[in-house]
Amino acid sequence: MERIAIVMAMGVEAAPVLGALGAAPIDAVAPLPFEWHRAERGGCDLLVAVNGRDPRHAVDKIGPEPAALNTYLVLDRWRPDLVITAGAAGGWARAGGAVGDVYLNDDHFVYHDRRIALPGYTDYGIGWYPGVDTRALAAAVGAKRGVVTTGGSLDETPDDRRMIDATGACVKDMEAAAVAWVAELLGVPVLAVKAITDLVDSHVATVEQFDANLAFALHRLVDALVAVVDWCAPRTVAELGEGP
Ligand code: SAH
Repeated sequence: MERIAIVMAMGVEAAPVLGALGAAPIDAVAPLPFEWHRAERGGCDLLVAVNGRDPRHAVDKIGPEPAALNTYLVLDRWRPDLVITAGAAGGWARAGGAVGDVYLNDDHFVYHDRRIALPGYTDYGIGWYPGVDTRALAAAVGAKRGVVTTGGSLDETPDDRRMIDATGACVKDMEAAAVAWVAELLGVPVLAVKAITDLVDSHVATVEQFDANLAFALHRLVDALVAVVDWCAPRTVAELGEGP
């Protein structure tokens, strides 16, 4: 691969990644407040595209819409061979998840908060966007694999829970399916690398877990992301599923 793009939502998530890769800021797309950084690793050109700060609310632009827009600009202007959606995520103890676990995507990316009970629209709402085959990669970097499910909210409502049970998802975030949708539209293979900051089925509030575990989970995320890039860079996308 010649070019790999990594799309991330929060500045605090991206900071250790940028440090580990020695990435330097480059111009993004004015006037949009996305933050792009470039690095080189193993002969591969890397672009770390951070969704950046929301100018109105002065917080990070988490959620599906900024992720889709930033991803579109990255893929359209920079044409990577692979796009990686990376960051924090919720997991489930009942699915074997633990704080600090790193998950790669299973075959598909789904949404859990787009319920459209019209003929034909149920699956459209869920999405089912394909991801790259991560079996060999997960074994190589010591990561778990799971269906990643995305929604616009941090919490989980009973309706979300029913959707998540139906798709068998075990990794919950607010960006991945949006990245995967754009990736499918533009024909770029997509991979998720997600570190678990909180367990959705814990009795401790998600926000409390997120704050307590973020630093530890990010440490695991950075190590995994570097290992993933090192594994992917010398291979083609078709070779990713093929083992060592
Ligand atoms: N408390 C933080 C906000 C975290 S939002 C702050 O003050 O800024 C959570 C971010 O991590 C989102 O980008 C989302 O993709 C991911 N995330 C972590 N745990 C999640 C969960 N349980 N559900 C959905 N997204 C989660």
